[in-house]
Amino acid sequence: MLGLMQEWPLLCHKLLDNAANQHGNREVVSRSIEGPIVRTTYAELRRRALRLADRLERDGFALGDRIATLAWNTARHLEAWYGIMGIGAIYHTLNPRLHVEQLAWIMNHAEDKALFVDLTFLPLAEKLAAQVDSLRRFVVLTDRAHMPETALPGAVAYQEWLEEAQDGFAWKSFDENTAAGMCYTSGTTGEPKGVLYSHRSNVLHAMIASMPDAMGLSSRDVVLPVVPMFHANAWGLGQSGPMVGAKMVMPGAKMDGASIYELLDTEKVTFTAAVPTVWLMLLQYLEETGKKLPYLDKVVIGGSACPRSMIQKFQDQYGVEVIHAWGMTEMSPLGTLCALKPEYAGRTGEQRLDVQQTQGFAPFGVEMKVTDDEGREHPWDGRTFGRLKVRGPAVASAYYGGAGPEQFDEQGWFDTGDVAHIDPNGYMEITDRAKDVIKSGGEWISTIALENLAVGHPDVAEAAVIGVRHSRWTERPLLVVVLKPGRETAKADILACLEGKVAKWWLPDDVAFVDEIPHTATGKIRKTALRRQFEDYRLP
Ligand code: ADP
Repeated sequence: MLGLMQEWPLLCHKLLDNAANQHGNREVVSRSIEGPIVRTTYAELRRRALRLADRLERDGFALGDRIATLAWNTARHLEAWYGIMGIGAIYHTLNPRLHVEQLAWIMNHAEDKALFVDLTFLPLAEKLAAQVDSLRRFVVLTDRAHMPETALPGAVAYQEWLEEAQDGFAWKSFDENTAAGMCYTSGTTGEPKGVLYSHRSNVLHAMIASMPDAMGLSSRDVVLPVVPMFHANAWGLGQSGPMVGAKMVMPGAKMDGASIYELLDTEKVTFTAAVPTVWLMLLQYLEETGKKLPYLDKVVIGGSACPRSMIQKFQDQYGVEVIHAWGMTEMSPLGTLCALKPEYAGRTGEQRLDVQQTQGFAPFGVEMKVTDDEGREHPWDGRTFGRLKVRGPAVASAYYGGAGPEQFDEQGWFDTGDVAHIDPNGYMEITDRAKDVIKSGGEWISTIALENLAVGHPDVAEAAVIGVRHSRWTERPLLVVVLKPGRETAKADILACLEGKVAKWWLPDDVAFVDEIPHTATGKIRKTALRRQFEDYRLP
């Protein structure tokens, strides 16, 4: 027997409707690409998104079309998302930090039909236009006054193009499983793979993300998504923010410490989220200027492991609660977040940090397990690590075009490619990417654990651990370090801060000092490149 409840498809534009109806005067503030801070409201943003939907239809776009964006976090980008989804088309966020060939590959694979582009990325878009045949419309996210000369065929200024639309458009309705958005993984480990979100998965993810033990968002929050919309959907904040009616502050193109601080301060931001490298810049700025963070309650840190020293600094020096989170583009992206369950809530000091350094537990909507290579499940003992697998309504069931089928099994589990253990209370800790783990004498060494300890040294700006060949143990860890400017530190001094905190045989055999560590387009350490760099390196 079926229940007798209403069919109310979970469609993304309903999130914006809710924001406009319930929180219509709430502000969406952006640092515009042209320079000034601009302010709008949810009511106005919906009005413009509806016009955008109308205008897209007038250009002949329809259900299922892929519409790419090459843009920073701004209100314009957000209204473009909703307008695109509102006709059943699919927003496709492109990561401008990728190489042009890789971007062209991705766009051709997705067969993008239109491109919305920020002024910053015009030169890049011009190169892409020449390599992507499916593109037939270019919209530059600016107004007539700022529209530059461009080689993009038939390019129009967004504002002007939008003026040609009419009010009165009604959102299209369709099945909630209709595709809504698309994002390719940056290919940290191989070819880029397309993840195709549905309206249903985005709406459910927005709910999952907003729950108290997840991001815990409300209409009283002022949310600054520093994490870009092109990096795993700004971790869902473009949907969760409107869902709860939070004020949004969009940072545009500037992510340096001073610019982020300015927004945190002038807009009285209570909640923000980004990768550790962004927070390194902010913390350095605060240290140099002696400024404080009186309004900020919470910072979500993820994308790569958050060093313990960073959690401690935010909490002890600035009174800001850190939520360490783990996720993947394939998971919309949130997987786990580290709120404190009652079992751990009373902890203070180092013992609290022991918990917060883990990536936390899975909210409702994410199931997880850790297995050996044969798929046998490991106990949740906080020690035994293996392959981390997940499933849930906002987890990919396949890649677009069928790439990487081996990552999905018949029971619906997705193999994340991460290595982790889970403790009896459900707290998961990532020890490595499967491809980066070091096997020394048949035993695994966690590179992340070593890196986290090394960046705790006051002279160390960044650290990476890689395996190098060893005649007896097959592989041994090498610690690669970037020192802070002007510091000269002995290798032994750095190794000393690891001693006693990990098994003795985990300690790196050597330390190599470098000026720079290579990064991926999403700010992660590019270990493949680092391993290549140290291919001929011989341990002492
Ligand atoms: P890409 O591979 O394109 O950078 P993602 O941004 O989706 O794509 O990266 C997901 C991966 O990032 C995870 O599989 C994991 O290896 C890593 N990661 C994310 N958050 C954390 C975290 N808090 N700690 C450790 N690793 C993390």
